[in-house]
Amino acid sequence: MKRRDFLKLAGAVSVAGCATATPSKARVVVIGGGFGGATAAKYIRMWDPSIDVALVERDAGFVSCPISNLVLGGFTNMAEISRGYDGLRRHGVQVVRDEAVAIDAAKKTVRLARGGELAYERLIVSPGIDFNFAEVQGYEAAMQDGSVLHAWKAVPQTVALRRQLEEMRDGGLYILSVPLAPYRCPPGPYERASMVAAYFKQAKPRSKVLVLDANPDVTSKGGLFKRAWSDLYQGILEFRGNSRAVAVDGKSRTVKLELEDVKGDVLNVLPPHRAGDIAAKSGLITTNNRWCDVDWRTMESKAVKGVHVLGDATLSAPGMPKSGSMANNHAKIAAAAIVELLNGRAPQPLKIINTCYSFVSPKEGIRVSSVHQWDDGQGTLVPVKGAGGVSAARSEAEGTFAWNWARTIWADSLA
Ligand SMILES: Cc1cc2nc3c(=O)[nH]c(=O)nc-3n(C[C@H](O)[C@H](O)[C@H](O)COP(=O)(O)OP(=O)(O)OC[C@H]3O[C@@H](n4cnc5c(N)ncnc54)[C@H](O)[C@@H]3O)c2cc1C
Repeated sequence: MKRRDFLKLAGAVSVAGCATATPSKARVVVIGGGFGGATAAKYIRMWDPSIDVALVERDAGFVSCPISNLVLGGFTNMAEISRGYDGLRRHGVQVVRDEAVAIDAAKKTVRLARGGELAYERLIVSPGIDFNFAEVQGYEAAMQDGSVLHAWKAVPQTVALRRQLEEMRDGGLYILSVPLAPYRCPPGPYERASMVAAYFKQAKPRSKVLVLDANPDVTSKGGLFKRAWSDLYQGILEFRGNSRAVAVDGKSRTVKLELEDVKGDVLNVLPPHRAGDIAAKSGLITTNNRWCDVDWRTMESKAVKGVHVLGDATLSAPGMPKSGSMANNHAKIAAAAIVELLNGRAPQPLKIINTCYSFVSPKEGIRVSSVHQWDDGQGTLVPVKGAGGVSAARSEAEGTFAWNWARTIWADSLA
């Protein structure tokens, strides 16, 4: 790093309350301390401690979406799914609590909301998702007064939605509306429906769950979910495909579909997703005004040189879900590639694995997994034929594996 850049950097970092003593080989800035960004920051420091890493995260701590559906069901609590950033600090990552508001790819700087800039040699952007609220008429107004929630980012709506479920009368209707794929965590809505149904079965047995899915059918682990619903939640949980929400009315608690209106007591509508705002503002979105295409050997953006995009914000490779498991693996591709590039070596493609567990009852889980490897001919990662698959049946053993998976990935990303 040039002395001039270092001074600029030291100035910016002191604004955020951190300091660094020795000029390093290079600086990597990471935007977003979720599954993708936190893992990348940690692994770059582990694989080459001479690289200086600053992580910009707007929230004080990490709250996991995986397992948050159990919070909604009342089967665990927010403390169990929350972690701090001290583990990253122990790896020598400078954690900067701020919001990245602009990227100048020509000057290689990131501007922070509280003032100041961070200079980078390589930038990683893992901002997760934001929503296309305008595609569901009335959504933003209804969300303002709390009459419609998504709870598709773990805080603070998860807590608010749990409260609404607790306050709902017995005999009420909870509506969960699922957008067209791709959205973050394909099996997540069906796990959520199962957890709310399990809560109703225990605490409000006259209440119902209605899943209005814009997709024709359950998009992930369909056979396993439907089996669990018919065995465990007959008369409680109803699934309807081809039911896209086009509008919501908070006052009358109505979800408007293309051909009918459905009234409920608690409305949990997931709006269509896109890459996080900072990706949109920085010219990283390449496809359908929604997603960021990358070179899957390095995670480098196809639109902006020197910027690597991870996690849910990416234009998924074939057969690749948007998951915490994938974001954690994307981070390792990027970390390995950046360490190679900053050391003057050529990055090699990596083979990566996805595993997604879902709870179908408070203790029983189901799983889907897949393996993805680089294909020179297609120029992308493709699923390895015959690898992966789904659980044979739901079981308490899979439920235990799900908790172990979560604790392991939180530690791998953050500790
Ligand atoms: C209910 C639910 C259940 C799920 N269950 C599972 C599961 O069982 N298994 C699984 O693998 N996945 C699961 N997922 C999906 C998983 O949560 C996401 O795929 C994962 O979080 C994506 O990681 P990410 O790094 O792309 O984004 P995130 O983890 O969302 O991280 C993005 C971070 O960037 C920060 N940020 C954004 N913009 C800025 C900015 N401009 N400046 C500073 N900070 C910024 C945000 O505050 C956030 O901390 C689930 C999701 C949901 C909603």
